Amino acid sequence: ILTLFAITTMNAQNKAHLDKTKPIEERIDLLMKQMTLEEKVGQMNQYNGFWEVTGPAPKGGTAELKYEHLRKGWVGSMLTVRGVNQVRAVQKIAVEQTRLGIPLIIGFDVIHGYKTLSPIPLAEAASWDLAAIKKSAQVAAAEASASGINWTFGPMVDISREARWGRVMEGAGEDPFLGSKIAEARVRGFQGDSFGDLAKVNTIAACAKHFAAYGFSESGKEYNTVDIGNATLYNTVLPPFKAAKDAGVRTFMNSFNILNGIPATGNKFLQRDILKGKWNFNGYVITDWASIREMINHGFAADGKEASQRAVEAGADMDMESHLYVAELVNLVKEGKVDIKLIDDSVRRILRVKFELGLFDNPFLYCDEKREKETVGSKANNDAVLDMAKKSIVLLKNERNLLPLKKSGQKIALIGALAKDKTSPLGSWRIAAEDNSAVSVLEGMQQYKDNQLTYEKGADLTVGPTTFTAELVFNTTDKSGFEAAKKAAASADVVVMVLGEHGFQSGEARSRTSLDLPGVQQELLEEIYKVNPNIVLVLNNGRPLALPWAAEKIPAIVEAWQLGTQTGNALAQVLYGDYNPSGKLPMSFPRNVGQCPIYYNFHNTGRPTNSEGNVFWSHYTDVEKTPQFPFGFGLSYTTFEYKNLKLDKATYAKGEKVNVSVELTNTGNFEGKEVVQLYIRDITASLSRPVKELKGFELVELKKGETKTIRFTLTENELGFFDNEGNYLVEPGTFKVFVGTNSDEVKETAFVLK
Ligand code: BGC
Repeated sequence: ILTLFAITTMNAQNKAHLDKTKPIEERIDLLMKQMTLEEKVGQMNQYNGFWEVTGPAPKGGTAELKYEHLRKGWVGSMLTVRGVNQVRAVQKIAVEQTRLGIPLIIGFDVIHGYKTLSPIPLAEAASWDLAAIKKSAQVAAAEASASGINWTFGPMVDISREARWGRVMEGAGEDPFLGSKIAEARVRGFQGDSFGDLAKVNTIAACAKHFAAYGFSESGKEYNTVDIGNATLYNTVLPPFKAAKDAGVRTFMNSFNILNGIPATGNKFLQRDILKGKWNFNGYVITDWASIREMINHGFAADGKEASQRAVEAGADMDMESHLYVAELVNLVKEGKVDIKLIDDSVRRILRVKFELGLFDNPFLYCDEKREKETVGSKANNDAVLDMAKKSIVLLKNERNLLPLKKSGQKIALIGALAKDKTSPLGSWRIAAEDNSAVSVLEGMQQYKDNQLTYEKGADLTVGPTTFTAELVFNTTDKSGFEAAKKAAASADVVVMVLGEHGFQSGEARSRTSLDLPGVQQELLEEIYKVNPNIVLVLNNGRPLALPWAAEKIPAIVEAWQLGTQTGNALAQVLYGDYNPSGKLPMSFPRNVGQCPIYYNFHNTGRPTNSEGNVFWSHYTDVEKTPQFPFGFGLSYTTFEYKNLKLDKATYAKGEKVNVSVELTNTGNFEGKEVVQLYIRDITASLSRPVKELKGFELVELKKGETKTIRFTLTENELGFFDNEGNYLVEPGTFKVFVGTNSDEVKETAFVLK
């Protein structure tokens, strides 16, 4: 009776904030006035999905505690709750059983799709196709929202130059300009283009992560320390975050790493001064998983209480799974250690996003089984991820025109465990997708029936079952399948070998100290080469690999990453020439791991070139200093010629637009697409500038023999840089302009900025 009475009273008092016609800020005020301190802190608490909520209430342990907190209104958000049924069950508790009935916001790692998976994000970045990338995020949002999800922990916009770091698979590669464009495309894909779109049923809130500098973890070791200067922070790390913010991203996630001595989670400079201060961000910041608690290990807080204080003071609004805000913040406020204003600010931000999503207007908007059934795994979604997968493929080498394969009359031997694998191509971050749900390369190639196709595994990639947590399953030494594979290869016209990393070998906590082919794959490749050198090597990997032997010997190499659900279909279409590849590498591929970190936009040393007879130039004594395949590199079945790179003037006044044009001709035998890339170099400045910086690109489609004039405009937005205080400067002087097919092969001109 008491509860009933309480709810009735609650309803009577609280209806006002449910009035849709009132502005959101007023609705927040109306609600916050009625919230107790405990309820406010509750909004700042996020728990992982903790039990089959549709089952009986849990007894004992954390699950029981979480359940109790949920019913008290001490939980603002949950993550990784699966499917409409489960979401409805927890949402019902929040809305119907708590005093104020504030809906939960349901988060999930929708990183490259929900159930129908797109290529891993690094692969998508290789398409340089912003419309396709946006579409891919739209598909992901449509499926996730149909499963009850309101919020994804993506896009990851961390720039990284470190192939050893397993999480490069989640990002857009090494370049801040490309990374910024892709960040924007992904945010708009998830959330929609304009403010009101967030309330639509098929959009979800996005999250720019990990703020900041996680991609610079020392030596690529996961969770490691980051120590970088302001030049790198402002010019390389922050731009994609700013682009996400400008595209309207509603949340940020902070990061596990220390940045210059201060953990990102407790970092006031990042979260308050830059993000909420200078950038005026009015959404909220979620911590990374238990990262408040991790500040104790960092030696930045003595205990959970101090860690909570530091985090909230630094601007971390919502605690993901540290269980600390809910335990400590009320007392910290009561003891006068934490200002209630900080709590109010965080709660306001969180409620704002919930209102924007329409959760108060209809908490069950996203809980529609019919829509879930129709949307998740639909034909249209599969078509979209297939399109994205084809666009993500990069042709690295194609000698003797081995590719495309002939459609009939060829004997083809397909070799490699990965060719038959239906799980690995899904890549890391595939929480909702089932094992074996990808179309394998074998299945894709079998559709081209007029060739004679034989399959041999050659060697396993793993010993025993593959699970995310298994550490050393990849070092198989078993070569017993070599003979059968060699036999198949010897009698074939062409050998297609699918080699690389298993999908679980990149991603979070998947750092490697070697970038070669794991297990006995390199040996297998060399053995097969001896019996038949007509090899098309198809690479599956979540990071740049270093394969100098293959780069020299193997006539055709196709970078196929982990392409998601439609892997086999996409790849078969490319191999057989039904789709002409146009992808370009978003990260430099090194010659060996010792070159890492290697990236195209480096700064000149004082001794950059090999002047006659001088060994004291910046180089290695054992390997060339250039990468194996540079940033922006990728071939096509056709060829392109660049001509007549021109500027409209030789000298420009400050503020004047620099107009660049170049002629591009398709000189080969196929229709094709080319990513025309524009780089600049600010020759002399108050801060040393990189030898090249990408500042424009365009995806151009050309018929055989066709020529198009491609135009770019450079403005102050492209010509400047950030100084060490974070001020944006455009300085007069000479600028070089390079346009070409990759960061290394370019035409060049120059202008003077007055
Ligand atoms: C990762 C985040 C992710 C979170 C929730 C963390 O371990 O670093 O990127 O969003 O887990 O799954």
